[in-house]
Amino acid sequence: MASTPPPADLVVIRGRVYTLSWAEPGRDGTPDSGAPYDADGWHPDAEAVAVRGDKIVFVGTTSEALRLVGPDTRTIDARGSTVLPGAVDSHMHVASLGRTLSQLDLRGAIGEEETIARVANYAASVPKGTWIFGQGGEEDHWNKTQPTWEALSARVPDHPVLLYGKHGFVVRGNRKAFQLAGITADTPQPDGGTIVKDAAGNLTGMLLNRGASRLLSAKIPHDTREDREQQFRLGLAEMASHGFTAVHEAGVDRLSLEALQALDAAGELPIRVYAMLSGRDAELMAEWAARGPVHQPSGRLEIRGVKAYYDAALGSRGARMLADYSDRPGHRGVAGSEYGFDEAAVSKAMTAGFQVAVHAIGDAGNREVLDFFEKMITQTPALRANRHRIEHAQVIHPDDMPRFSELGVIASMEPPHAVEDKAWAEARLGPDRVRGAYAWRSLRQAQAHLVFNSDLPDGDHSLFYGLYAAITRQDKSGQPVGGWYPEQRMTPEEAVRGYTTWAAYASFTEDDRGALKVGNLADITVVDIDPLTVGASQPHALLSGRATYAIVGGEIVHGSEASPP
Ligand SMILES: [Zn+2]
Repeated sequence: MASTPPPADLVVIRGRVYTLSWAEPGRDGTPDSGAPYDADGWHPDAEAVAVRGDKIVFVGTTSEALRLVGPDTRTIDARGSTVLPGAVDSHMHVASLGRTLSQLDLRGAIGEEETIARVANYAASVPKGTWIFGQGGEEDHWNKTQPTWEALSARVPDHPVLLYGKHGFVVRGNRKAFQLAGITADTPQPDGGTIVKDAAGNLTGMLLNRGASRLLSAKIPHDTREDREQQFRLGLAEMASHGFTAVHEAGVDRLSLEALQALDAAGELPIRVYAMLSGRDAELMAEWAARGPVHQPSGRLEIRGVKAYYDAALGSRGARMLADYSDRPGHRGVAGSEYGFDEAAVSKAMTAGFQVAVHAIGDAGNREVLDFFEKMITQTPALRANRHRIEHAQVIHPDDMPRFSELGVIASMEPPHAVEDKAWAEARLGPDRVRGAYAWRSLRQAQAHLVFNSDLPDGDHSLFYGLYAAITRQDKSGQPVGGWYPEQRMTPEEAVRGYTTWAAYASFTEDDRGALKVGNLADITVVDIDPLTVGASQPHALLSGRATYAIVGGEIVHGSEASPP
């Protein structure tokens, strides 16, 4: 007689489970012959998952899973929802997200009265003297007059206030903030900005452009460890609520690292964090180059990567191009040591065994980073195994496409960037180079590893927005019809893999995560729309998708209580 297996701690039943344990799709996106795909499209390959401890112990039918239910087993009835391997945002800035979430939200506050009322309300909730930061102010509606400055200062006299407009050009403060910054009506106008005054020469509380806003922002106290911990708590909770089970934090300075380590030690990290140390923190880099990376797939915190910056952005024409910008002759952007790339420090970290992830946008920026990787790997071939990454990999010269796979370099890309940048990207690049921009399919066909992410806080961090952008290359309003350079679109399977299996590969955890199979860690995301079938038939509907559960190592970190508790 077969012995009865011990009961599971958690079972997920009646789901549309896609295990993603079948082989990778072809380079053109064709599903593998072993994939649960036929002429009718995709079909889930399981109904249920059972978990004991932090591991998956069973994947199969609901009736079989129910045999593993004991008196203490928690059950999630997925009721036909889709069950996927845990979703990962593999490049984001979760502390910045948390900072934004902890600040006063001014979006939609039209008119002085409402703006001031929101600030006053917020002020009532924090101790006197605490700086108040407002984000997303409707600056087109801000009155640049003395009376509104008086009104704000009178209603909020005891807290320094700094409000950011949503376009980022105008900031405004109250009297308390201006006093702390020593700005008076007699302060000379700074370079690169304007202290806005009324006709009589009085302060209005407005500062125009960075040269002036800096006078105020320079007085903001630095984050404390507690501030940073709180930012991570808020940011990670937000990501969990969107179904993510892990994030890669792209650029961790010492304060962030200490905050993450403290939260980890206290058991307060709701989801996993793969930390990339900031290449801008030279001391931290030197210290960790001496220690080497921390790899622990079952833990909540891994210190395994280093983030470096090679060139700037395409929109501002800072990305380094091989030839002049099409809309600014004579200009090719900046890169390398000019842009703060510390080759010696990055080389040391690489030699110490870290995965090196370098921000590169322009085709020259990407080529030079590939040159750097090639030089290092030629000297020490073993360094290739550390799966180095180019973050954004935004514009690639055709000659450089095959070098990603030759050097084992992962292209880490944001599907939403393509649809958000399309309005001006072609003007910057011209009709030929634009074909190598956001070129997911070209990179796949060149045998490169890809991984998808949001680069939040600049973007919308919804998993569904990322999937939608990858599948359609259309913006949220469905433009352009048919997609922007649609030959670069991903299939629904590739899009899902970009946030699951490929993300696991990018963090060296493909043997532990990224697929729902027995023995893997129980990182599971449940969503209310099937991205494989809906992504194929009516992708625009993906935008209304929601994550109903996020499970990390068997722990439910988002979703209504399973029964029984
Ligand atoms: Zn970033």
